Amino acid sequence: MNTEPLLKVNDLKVHFYTLRGVVHALERIAFHLNRQETLGLAGETGCGKSVTARSILRLIDPPGRIISGSIIFEGRDILTLDEAKVRQIRGRKISMIMQEPKMSLNPVIRVGEQIAETLLIHDRSLNRRLARQQAVDMLAQLGIADATRIARRYPHELSGGMSQRIMIAMMLVTRPKLLIADEPTSALDVTIQAQILELMQTLVREIQTSVLMITHDLGVMAETCERVAVMYAGDMIEIGSVHNVLKNPQHPYTQGLLQTVPDKANPDQPMYSIRGNVPSLLEPQTNCRFAPRCEYAMERCKQEIPPVYHLNGNHQAACFLHDRSPAVETAS
Ligand code: SF4
Repeated sequence: MNTEPLLKVNDLKVHFYTLRGVVHALERIAFHLNRQETLGLAGETGCGKSVTARSILRLIDPPGRIISGSIIFEGRDILTLDEAKVRQIRGRKISMIMQEPKMSLNPVIRVGEQIAETLLIHDRSLNRRLARQQAVDMLAQLGIADATRIARRYPHELSGGMSQRIMIAMMLVTRPKLLIADEPTSALDVTIQAQILELMQTLVREIQTSVLMITHDLGVMAETCERVAVMYAGDMIEIGSVHNVLKNPQHPYTQGLLQTVPDKANPDQPMYSIRGNVPSLLEPQTNCRFAPRCEYAMERCKQEIPPVYHLNGNHQAACFLHDRSPAVETAS
């Protein structure tokens, strides 16, 4: 059995060249994803989760640019491949489900036809009739009772939940090795969210796909992920098992983030928010970006970038509070 990680992101740096200056969107992103594992990517809006996902698919368009780093997928660095090879990987080996399904579906093509088209693009030996049948089979596998009838519908004839099922079918029909799910349920009604997540998990298990689950919903993370990586202002600040990170967070930002989750048992309790604001990314990172908001900040936090410290049980945190632990070069 191959024990090498399916994906290994090393020291990824992405900048956007805007009229206001250079936005240092990602500074030192490093993590790995094992085969058939679900890794959650957590953090506030704008922390760089989606930029990380798009970098893996090499979909950073100007004025953005991947400055440095490597993205090793199945032993090959995606950043060094020519565009034709990357196109063979996109959709076939790595698929991505977006937050808003209706934005990703073509409004003038029947949904079954769109799923069949995905198959035809990646398998030239397949004929259209067989591709259509496989599309219907995939919808049935997703628990859609009348799959043949639904396949003939246009996107505007479907509910948000059904559209997201169609997107899941479209992204998994090629049996990719890696599924990137970017806030897959945040545009859906809460009652539908659980159903969609369950469906996705069942299918992912059946086709043995690894998942990078991007979400700001820590509840979704707890239910679906084995490990969690937390990002803050373009930096990866904590990684560990879902239990360690959510039950015993070691970075002050993660601790604050967990306190912002409303306590369902105490609905009248005032909402907690982390004081201060997310820093501007127009300046290169020279210190701990969380320092202006951190109650434990020391002088060195304002002057140096904290290394990533290796804690117990594959738990890592980039915070000087752990400077008695061994430092690792970058988080992984
Ligand atoms: Fe707070 Fe310093 Fe740790 Fe940053 S490095 S999170 S400022 S204690």
